[in-house]
This record gives sequence, C-alpha cells and structure tokens, in this order.
Amino acid sequence: MELTINNLSKTYPNGVKALNNISLTIPQGMFGLLGPNGAGKSTLMRTIATLQDPDEGSIILDTTDVLKDPQTVREQLGYLPQDFGLYPRINAQVMLDHIAQMKGVGNKGERKELVESLLQKVNLYQHRRKALGTYSGGMRQRFGIAQALVGNPKLIIVDEPTAGLDPSERNRFYNLLSEIGENTIVILSTHIVEDVNTLCSNMAIICQGEVLMTGKPSEGIASI
Ligand code: ADP
Ligand code: ADP
Repeated sequence: MELTINNLSKTYPNGVKALNNISLTIPQGMFGLLGPNGAGKSTLMRTIATLQDPDEGSIILDTTDVLKDPQTVREQLGYLPQDFGLYPRINAQVMLDHIAQMKGVGNKGERKELVESLLQKVNLYQHRRKALGTYSGGMRQRFGIAQALVGNPKLIIVDEPTAGLDPSERNRFYNLLSEIGENTIVILSTHIVEDVNTLCSNMAIICQGEVLMTGKPSEGIASI
C-alpha cells in the first residue's frame, strides 16, 4: 500500500497559500509530517481525508484516485483530527458502539467484542463507563485512536495528537501508536521533533506549504 501526493496546491479565499505544489510518496508504516504551526499540515491532512478539495494536484492511494473516488478512501480511513469534539455525557463504550454501528460493523455481539478489544488496546477498559467529558487530555487522545481504529482502516491520519500531553501521557500514546498494524499507513502530523524521532520510519518536513525535505528520522533532524 502506498499513498502518492502529486503537485497539491491550495490557496484559501483570504489569499493564504496553505499548500504550494506539494509532492510526497508515503509508504506503509508510520510517516511523520513535521512542521511548525501554520505550515499547512492540517490542510494537507483534511485534503487527504477528502474533507476539503485542493485547487490543483492529485492524491493516489494504490490505484485509487482519491479526489475522483472519495468513497473508496473513506471506507479505508481512520481520521483523528486536531481538537476533535467528544459528546461529554456519553461513555466510551456506548460511543464506540455507535461508531461501529455507523460504520456497519456486524451484529450486536460482534460490536461488543470489537468495542471491548479496542478499549483494552487503548487502555481505557476500566474507564469504559465514565462519561467522556470527565476524561483527561491523554485519555481523550487514546479514545480518539480507538474511534479512528473502528472498521480496521488501512490509512490512519492523526493530526497533532500529542500537543498538550504531558511526558508520561505522551509516552503512553507513543506505545499505543507503535502497536498499530504493519500493513497500514499512519500519517502523524506534529510540530514536535521527538514524536517523529520516536515513532516514524519515514518523514517529511513542511514549512509555508512547501516540502523542505523528506527522508528517515535516523538520518538526523535534531538540528531543525
Ligand atoms: P492549526 O493549529 O492546525 O494551525 P488552525 O488554528 O490554523 O489550525 O485552524 C483551526 C481551524 O480554523 C481550522 O478549521 C482552519 O481551517 C480554520 N482557520 C485557520 N486559520 C484561518 C483563517 N486565517 N481564516 C479562517 N479560518 C481559519
Ligand atoms: P498547520 O496545520 O501546519 O498549523 P494549517 O493547514 O492549519 O497549518 O494552516 C496553514 C495556513 O493556512 C495558515 O496560515 C492558516 O492560518 C491558514 N488557514 C488554515 N485554514 C484556513 C481557512 N479555512 N481559511 C483561511 N486560512 C486558513
């Protein structure tokens, strides 16, 4: 599986050029999209997630033209936006069951099994009956990953997931992300160099809507 982005450009109506001719090849595994605030990361993530159209360019997932056939991609996508909202009064178990139902996952019994395994995976099983509004920042992010994993997506996009987490929560989150399946593309957008060094096998640095460099974190990005 491979995601190819060709010459993607987007200028907002206010004249901000958020993406300026971006081209990237994203292989399986954990891919880090590193850049400062305002670099264009969220715009790129939303565009890949088919929530927003670019002005120009194409996105190809294996053989699917993502912009022409968004439905195929949506079926394979797990997306964790930055600042996603949670229904504060619903508990984790009920919420995940709703999401599984919306995504058409099996019958009641199959959903129960899936929901329990996801809650265990993200270490929230013991908190499954607590209202989501009572969750800490780290718990929210882990719950977000559980949401994104419903339906076994092959493409997972997580936008700035570690912003605002303290070091121990961040480490728990790293452990969780590193357990996500091998035959999956995970795109992690972040402004934190350590996120990319710890987790990613490949990465790109973007700034002002342009790709500055691509490569492997092991090749050294401590200096940016
Ligand atoms: P990020 O933290 O990724 O930079 P922003 O704070 O820029 O995110 O954006 C948060 C939301 O506000 C997004 O939905 C984005 O589209 C919108 N937004 C950001 N900048 C502007 C702007 N200059 N004008 C209108 N909407 C904006
Ligand atoms: P990042 O996620 O790297 O912080 P964004 O994609 O959120 O970057 O934003 C890139 C640039 O586009 C920023 O200058 C931001 O203010 C601007 N921007 C984002 N969303 C909008 C929007 N809806 N309308 C206008 N400008 C926007």
